[in-house]
Amino acid sequence: MNFSYWEIKSWLTNVDFTIVGSGIVGLNCALHLKNQFPKAKILVLEKGMLPQGASTKNAGFACFGSLSEILDDLKTHSTDEVLKLVEKRVKGLKLLRKTLGDQAINFQQLGGYELFSENDTKLFESCLSHKKTINKLLKPIFRDDVFSVKDNIFNFNKIKEDYIFNQFEGQIDTGKMMEALLQKVQSQGIKILNNIAVENFSEDSNFIKIKTNQFEFSSSKLFIATNGFASLLLQEQVMPARAQVLITKPIDNLNIKGTFHLDKGYYYFRNIDNRILLGGGRNLDFKTEETSKFGETEIIQNKLEDLLKTTILPNETFEIDYRWSGIMGVGSKKRAIVKQVSNHVFCGVRLGGMGVAIGSLVGQELAQLLD
Ligand SMILES: Cc1cc2nc3c(=O)[nH]c(=O)nc-3n(C[C@H](O)[C@H](O)[C@H](O)COP(=O)(O)OP(=O)(O)OC[C@H]3O[C@@H](n4cnc5c(N)ncnc54)[C@H](O)[C@@H]3O)c2cc1C
Repeated sequence: MNFSYWEIKSWLTNVDFTIVGSGIVGLNCALHLKNQFPKAKILVLEKGMLPQGASTKNAGFACFGSLSEILDDLKTHSTDEVLKLVEKRVKGLKLLRKTLGDQAINFQQLGGYELFSENDTKLFESCLSHKKTINKLLKPIFRDDVFSVKDNIFNFNKIKEDYIFNQFEGQIDTGKMMEALLQKVQSQGIKILNNIAVENFSEDSNFIKIKTNQFEFSSSKLFIATNGFASLLLQEQVMPARAQVLITKPIDNLNIKGTFHLDKGYYYFRNIDNRILLGGGRNLDFKTEETSKFGETEIIQNKLEDLLKTTILPNETFEIDYRWSGIMGVGSKKRAIVKQVSNHVFCGVRLGGMGVAIGSLVGQELAQLLD
């Protein structure tokens, strides 16, 4: 099919900024570029019919690290790095809430709970013994104790009788958040083209030539926000990591409210619309889950169902309504890569399991690389 003169003129000529990926990072980058350069022609290219990575697939935890996660991070990162990351997650969440508003994303600060399996005494005791030190470490950021101990008020089974509670943790409605973000971007005259996969690009002294699965065109600058798919376009250290999820049908009188982390965060669940959404289990089969292909596996889905039956909803009958997966981008360091790659190319990728929290900020930082 040939494009018409009008199509070429309105959509594909004199493009100032092209963004690859319409996830939380790409869309925030687009918004900030528009803010910095109101007259710029901005085009977002997205390979999926909807955003098709992690931003519409995640669990919607507005979190900045459970106690065991922070202790774990301290083993591989300096105290300063860990603090900076927590601070970034807090700042990012503030920015997300400011950009879209609490109502639009259904933000609720119901608190977060860390649960410990009944036979995980070592981890449980280690967390208890470090609670005070970590609270002190985080005091400058939160001005109050973050972690406290709570009884098993939700009557979960096969876990230690105490939880570690985080009063600052919240949750959002992921679908509403992405809907609001897409609307905001489009209302500012930024164009999004779906079902367009960028295959490669080449750089000239003044512009970038971009080849997609449908057409070729030129842009003054290129911003790559493809997270788990980054290694297809960039030489950066980003590995894909698939994460599987399921959700129950609505359950009458469900009293579980909040966000929950189990087994060092390898499993996570929350309430949403009288349902339980549960994800995790990558640790059962890391090798298979190191993929950018969507899909569910028996070993992980069975384990998730088993956890629902034995631990989370031991006294309820429930049915599974939907199952899905999303693709994250991870690396040896828990730090996003936000940088200028070449004269006219920039990237903001590798958000791990933290993109709800840091995605808005990473998008902003990516746009600001042009200042
Ligand atoms: C199951 C699951 C649960 C999660 N839970 C949480 C949570 O509770 N809290 C939290 O903070 N984080 C969570 N995360 C992580 C969070 O969702 C991600 O970090 C965040 O969405 C990353 O945003 P992004 O914009 O960088 O990437 P993405 O949302 O993956 O966006 C990248 C986009 O680029 C597109 N793309 C890729 N390649 C191309 C190409 N060549 N051409 C065109 N388009 C392309 C993709 O289709 C995709 O839409 C979770 C992730 C998953 C998968």
